[in-house]
Amino acid sequence: MEIKVKVGEKISEEEAKTLDPSKKAVLVNAPPKTGDVEGQAPYRDMVMCPCCYNVGWAWLDTEYYIYVQCGRCGCSFKA
Ligand SMILES: [Zn+2]
Repeated sequence: MEIKVKVGEKISEEEAKTLDPSKKAVLVNAPPKTGDVEGQAPYRDMVMCPCCYNVGWAWLDTEYYIYVQCGRCGCSFKA
C-alpha cells in the first residue's frame, strides 16, 4: 500500500501572527478514523511538518490551504 505524505509549506512569521488560533488545526499523531475518504472535504491525511519533519494527521481541505500547527515543535505551516 502506498502511503502519501503531504509536506507542509512553511509560512513566514508575519503570516503566522495574523492567523486566528481557533482556525488552526493541530498536527496529531493519532491514526485516522475509518471511513474517511480523500475527495470528501474536509478529509484526514498525513502531513509532514516542514520544520522538524514530524509526520502526523490533520484535517485537510481539498479546496484550499489550511493552517496547521505542529504538535511537536509548534511551527505553523500550511498544507
Ligand atoms: Zn514540527
